[in-house]
Order: sequence, then C-alpha cells, then structure tokens
Amino acid sequence: MSDIIKLLPDHVANQIAAGEVVQRPASVVKELLENSIDAGASQIKLLVKDAGRTLVQVIDNGKGMSTTDARLSFERHATSKINSADDLFALNTKGFRGEALASIAAVAHVELKTKTEGEEVGTQIEIEGSVIKSQEVCATLQGTSIAVKNLFFNIPARRNFLKSDSVELRHIIDEFQRVALAHESIAFMLYHNDSELFNLPIANKRQRIVGVFGPKTNEKLVPVTEETEIVDIDGFIVKPEFSKKTKGEQFFFVNDRFIKHPYLNHSVSAAFDGLLPDRARASYFIYLKVDPKSIDINIHPTKTEVKFEDEHAIYTLLRAAVKHSLGQFNIAPVLDFNRESNMDTPYSYKNKEAQVPKVDVDRSFNPFEQEQKVKTSSYSGTPHYEKKNAAGWENLYDGLDKRNSSNSFSHLQIENEPETESLFVEHESKGFKDLKETDSDSANTYQLHNKYIVSAIKSGMMLIDQQRAHQRVLYEEFLRNITVKESVSQQLLFPLRLNYSPAELAIFKDLKESLENTGFALSMPEDGVLEVSGIPASIQESEVSIVLEQLLSDVEQEVPDTGFSQTDVLAKSMAKSMAVKTGEKLDELSREHLVNKLFACTEPTMSPFLKKTFITLTVDELDRKFNA
Ligand code: ADP
Ligand code: MG
Repeated sequence: MSDIIKLLPDHVANQIAAGEVVQRPASVVKELLENSIDAGASQIKLLVKDAGRTLVQVIDNGKGMSTTDARLSFERHATSKINSADDLFALNTKGFRGEALASIAAVAHVELKTKTEGEEVGTQIEIEGSVIKSQEVCATLQGTSIAVKNLFFNIPARRNFLKSDSVELRHIIDEFQRVALAHESIAFMLYHNDSELFNLPIANKRQRIVGVFGPKTNEKLVPVTEETEIVDIDGFIVKPEFSKKTKGEQFFFVNDRFIKHPYLNHSVSAAFDGLLPDRARASYFIYLKVDPKSIDINIHPTKTEVKFEDEHAIYTLLRAAVKHSLGQFNIAPVLDFNRESNMDTPYSYKNKEAQVPKVDVDRSFNPFEQEQKVKTSSYSGTPHYEKKNAAGWENLYDGLDKRNSSNSFSHLQIENEPETESLFVEHESKGFKDLKETDSDSANTYQLHNKYIVSAIKSGMMLIDQQRAHQRVLYEEFLRNITVKESVSQQLLFPLRLNYSPAELAIFKDLKESLENTGFALSMPEDGVLEVSGIPASIQESEVSIVLEQLLSDVEQEVPDTGFSQTDVLAKSMAKSMAVKTGEKLDELSREHLVNKLFACTEPTMSPFLKKTFITLTVDELDRKFNA
C-alpha cells in the first residue's frame, strides 16, 4: 500500500486552528484588543457592525509593525512575545501562541494597516481565507488598524451557528468590558453600527468601573486592598444591599487578565455569608497580582482559566480581605423581609381560638359561563384579551352549577357522618348566615395563607398557586401583545428618567420594539438615560424600574442559552416581576378574575417556568385521607 499520510496545507491547518480560537465575533474582539494592549497602545477604538458579522475593527496607537512583521504576523506560530518555552512561565503579555491573526485570517476578510514610530509610510495588507490579496505601502498614523470583515464567509455552518445580533453583541460587550476593566490606564471606545456604546477615558480603577457600569455604580462600591507575600489584592466589592438575585457582576483579574475562578468566587461569597438577602449573589471587581511564575494560564485555549500555585493561601487571604472591608465600612446584615411572610406557618395559630373558616362555596359558580362582572381588580392583570377557550376545563366544574348550594353541602356531610348531625347543624346555621351576608359578592373561592386559591370543582377541590397562575396569565398576555401589538399604553404626565450604563441601554435599544408593543414608550434622549413616557396599562409607575431591572438581569442571564428568544425572555421576565406574589391578599373578585383567566390560557397547567399552577384533590382522595 502506498503512503497515505500527508501534511495538511497551511490554509486548512489554519482553518482547523481557527475553530478553537475564533468561535464568534467576540473572540475576534478579544484577540485584537489584547494584541493592541501588548503593542503598548494608550488608546484603543473598537468598531463593530451588525454585532460583528459584517465588521470587527480595532484601531490602536501602539508601536505598530514593520513591513516584514506585518506580513509575518499572519503566519501560524508567529509571535514576537516569546522566544523559548521558558518564557511561558513568566508571561507579561496577553498573547503568546502566535495563532490569533493566522486563525482570524483563515476565516474572514482581513485588512491590516500599520506603521511604526520611525517610518514615513505604513504597510497595508489584505488577506482573505489565508490568501494574501494585496500588499501596499500606505499613509497611516502610528499604530495598527485591523479590520475583520465577513467573519466565517467560507464556513457557512459556523456563520449559521451564530446567535441573534443581541446575543452576539452581548458577548462582544462582555469581552470589551473585561478588557477595559483590566486596563484603566488605556482609553477605550466602542461603537456599534456608528453609535457610541462606550467612551472610557484613562482613569483610575473606580472611575473605570463607574464608566463601564454607569454613574449609579459609584455609591455601591467598597474598596478592598491587601498586600501580602504571595498576592496583592486590590479592587472593590459591591455593598450587599445592591447585590443581584441573579448573576451579578463578578470579576476577577489576575495580572490584568480577566479570569473565571469558581474556587476564589466561593472565597468572596464566603466572606459575604449572612450579609446577602436570600439567593442574592455577591458582586465584585477584584484585581490580583501574583508572580507570573506562580500561575499557569496555559491550561485553556481561550485563557480565562488560571491555575495558581498557592490556591488555598489565596483563598484564605481573599476571604479575610473582603471580610475586613465589609467590617471596616460598617456593613450590617440586610434583613430579608420577604422571608418573614413565608414563616406564616400553621403554628402561629396554635394559641388562637379555632374559627370556622369562611368557605363560601357557591355551587352555582361556573367560571366559564359567568359574565366578567368587573374589569378592574386589585391585582395587576391586563384587562384586555378575554379568551373563552376553556379547552375541556369546564368539565371540572360540570354539575356544580346545577346543585342547590345549601342542600348539597349539608347533604354531603350528613350522609357521611350522620351521628354528628347536631354539631353540624349548629355550625351550618352560622355558615349559612355568613353565606347570606356575602352572597352579593358570590364568593366561590377562598384564599389560603395568602398563597393558594381554593376552589370547588366537580370532582372535589382545586388549589391554585396564585403567583404561578398569574405568571401564566401575564406571560400569555405579553406574548400576545408583543406579537399582535394590541396593548394599551398609559402616558405618563412626567416621563421617568432612569440612569443606565451604555451596555444596559444597548439591551433596551435592542428590546425597544418589543417593549413598545407591550405598552412602553421609550426614548434615549442622552447618554446614560432611558426616558419612559408611557407604560403598559397593567403596571404601576412605581413598578417600572423594578420591572426593567429584572428584565436586564434576565436578558443578561439568558445570553449563554441556546434557545434564546427575545420575545419569550421579555414575556417571562415581565410576567415574573409583575405577577402577584405569595403573601398578597386577593379579594374575591381578583381571585375569580384570576381563576377565569388562568383557564382561558392556552397552557393553564404550568407556569411559564414549568411549575405546576394548580393541583386537584378529589372527594375520593379526601375520603381516603379521612378514613386512613
Ligand atoms: P500573539 O499575540 O500570540 O503573539 P497574534 O497572532 O495575536 O499572536 O499576533 C502575532 C504577532 O503580530 C504578535 O506577536 C505581534 O508581534 C504582532 N501584532 C499583532 N497585533 C498587533 C498590533 N495591534 N500592534 C502591533 N503588533 C501586533
Ligand atoms: Mg494575540
């Protein structure tokens, strides 16, 4: 047999290597920004078009490249940053593999312009899919500009694999922020489709964090510093009361490189122990400096994971440093008031006299035949969109309406336990008096512990989780509003002006159309400001910032998910923040309204977060319990 092994041509090898280095536009952003930093730039400008699909360009004022270097920079394993394997153990640069430019040039159209300090003219090179198309002299400023166009033009599968623009842009912003946060002594700018998202002048660390996350961040930061033999710790933690229930902002930098480190994250969280509200997570910006020899950053191709020689010692030192600043700045535990309402256990009734609950069961109630009596209610459901799609659910109530209420109630009890007749008669008469008094309200439902709605059904009883049920109702309404655009907006007399960071505003910009379909009227009159001049009919003005804050954190969290659908995330998020909560008292009409709406939903059995909205208990099951 003849020899079959052959060396892969360079452009194929480069394309394969590119698979590892260039996963999405954000990977290009990271590599180019890091090269500019390594080139000693003090000013770096990032231009992005169509979330990086069309263009990612980085322009720096660094040291530039000679003509020969410019040409060589696209070769694989071409690097000016290490000379020998030993250098790997004392890295002071971001790059060292010499792979990035070769990989990027293998899967895109790249245009390089560069000039070093002493030279009169610069070099311009165009390269497409590893093939050099042109090389010329050009007039340009000192520094380097690399424009990466039509990413994955020759790998349609990868191009199709890219997520929506909002997701890809989010990844780009994430990379940009990480780099910008690590290098406050470099000025950064980010433009997307010609609009400026960030303009960060040279600053100190605090100013840089505030520049990235918006002016309201300043008051939230508490400094952390500690200098030791093995590590220097510097940075800020976010005061516990500003912590977020979800992901939060968690940044570790080691020797000016962003890293992810679950173990060290645990150390900071441990220092916060007892200070955070339920389920909230600590936010922080922590900068560690260690001897480059004591870390291994080579263990991961995208280099966000780092191995420390002295992990345990750093863990302990970090926790102590964070604890120390929490103590020094007098940060007291935050009481979680929400938790207390949940402590409403049956034991609190221990010493109270037993009362006959006002279970005013109206047998004539059939939610699907009844007219909607009142359109407004104390819970914030949108009053439009009444769909009488009971999809078989009315069967649950069948028969109930045909019975005479008083007779069936007494009949049931007396039939099962005739010997206690006298006892029940007494109670009954009291019960019937109550029934009469409340008859005009026609009470069909009962609220249990401000959490469940109890309702009689044909086969027995139903317990509905009020919060989940309302989430389902709102979710379907929002989904519909976003697509059908039929919602009603209430205009605000005085528009709300809310401050957000550029990245947050970028998210709102992206969601603007969908949000407006739900009833919001939004504008961005100036940097850092979101102006809200109209809101959905179903929400209160005071709830707006909570709803929007929740939305931001949900959208941020959603990014890594494959099934990201903007509409769905928006509808879920708004349903979550606007639904009645456990612990809220609902009046009779609100309860009925909610039950009606739930069973008019397309999918009444589950909340949008796939939790059961109700359970049923049949009379048989109840009987069995009584006879067990
Ligand atoms: P690495 O950064 O690992 O060395 P790259 O492929 O990213 O590999 O870059 C190859 C080389 O090209 C670098 O080592 C550097 O000499 C040069 N280079 C890349 N970008 C720039 C830039 N913006 N300014 C100056 N030189 C650059
Ligand atoms: Mg590099």
